[in-house]
Amino acid sequence: MGERNKKILLEQLQLLKNKHCADCGTKDPEWASSNVGVFICVHCSGIHRMLGTHISRVKSCRLDQWDDESVAFMCERGNDVVNAELERHLPPYYHKAVSTDPQVFKEQFIQAKYSRKEFTQAGGPAHYEKGAKTGNLHKRGKDDKTYRIRKFVLNATDGTLKYFIKPDAKSPKQTISISSLHVSLSPDIVGHPNGMQLSFLVGGVTRHIYVYAEEAKDAIDWYITLRATIFCNMKEQFSELTDADVLKRMARFQQKQGWMSKTGPKKTEAYRKRWFVLDDRRLLYFGHPFDAYPKGSIYLGSRVEGYIVRDGLPAGQQETGYGITVTTPERDFLFLCENQEDQRSWITEIKGVLSRPLTEQDTKDLLSHKHLNEKRRRSVGRLTSSSSLFSLSPKMRSQSTKSTKHQNSEHQQF
Ligand SMILES: [Zn+2]
Repeated sequence: MGERNKKILLEQLQLLKNKHCADCGTKDPEWASSNVGVFICVHCSGIHRMLGTHISRVKSCRLDQWDDESVAFMCERGNDVVNAELERHLPPYYHKAVSTDPQVFKEQFIQAKYSRKEFTQAGGPAHYEKGAKTGNLHKRGKDDKTYRIRKFVLNATDGTLKYFIKPDAKSPKQTISISSLHVSLSPDIVGHPNGMQLSFLVGGVTRHIYVYAEEAKDAIDWYITLRATIFCNMKEQFSELTDADVLKRMARFQQKQGWMSKTGPKKTEAYRKRWFVLDDRRLLYFGHPFDAYPKGSIYLGSRVEGYIVRDGLPAGQQETGYGITVTTPERDFLFLCENQEDQRSWITEIKGVLSRPLTEQDTKDLLSHKHLNEKRRRSVGRLTSSSSLFSLSPKMRSQSTKSTKHQNSEHQQF
């Protein structure tokens, strides 16, 4: 009888509807939640165990004994039936977990889905859409590694996220416009399982800040609330866009980051290791992932305007890694990746950007980018102390007298 039941279960696993983990989409799951009736991967089965057996009873399809009743229940339910119920009102800004998501997201998604059943009823996820949230997050200092508690206040009505140094402070340390805000989960960069990266524009320049919440649920509440607010803001701004278009736009920001080395415009300078972030059409580079402001950025137009990416470096360049050449109407940018996988993935991402025609907003961004670069080139040319940083960061101007070392690196940064 046991063998027959196992055979029935294994047949169920072959069906298209059960071919992928009900929670994260990993192929060929071999575990199940026997009281819910879903097939899940080994990784999600670990998260299900944490929910407690009153919510989910985890069993292996291959290794455990199954009785007739449970097997009949699994056949009757299955992933598509259960997901149609439990993810029925999953909002577009709260994406379903995928295997590559950080652990904190998968855990919180599974808890929201099974324990709190947030997505079964219309209005279940409404608390993410209030556009208001106040709370403490640990924020990494701009100039040191220390994380300090800061009060964050989201207010969608006035379109801002503010943070305050002291809980009772009257004026914020920073006011971030929701229209330029992007948020991603970055446990690896922050070095904390609940780490997040916020990026936004200050005077046309991308600024990054790093935060983490003490509690995992609070981290995901912030993450989803910010995503919901950004989503609604974009829907308002671009009423012609579908939900899918808005999500595509949201995904373009912080879509890839990692180390590459680059040389300067003369192409004789030593290759320097930089942290690159592909942020929509801007390829930003930082000295270190935590730097508040980038050392520079490369605007990626479209193929039609003469922007090209290819593997390898131009003739005469010694290739001590896996080279990438990005050609813009102004100049070639040369990069070296540490391995072929990185090289391929950067090329794929950049190609994706170049193949998109420029929108009206992109054209405006390109002009302002050229304007900022021109300003920077002129000021760097003059070799004056404070103005050389003008185009990078309004804040750095005030600091530039403090740090001559920083200025030097700015001059060499190209
Ligand atoms: Zn899974």
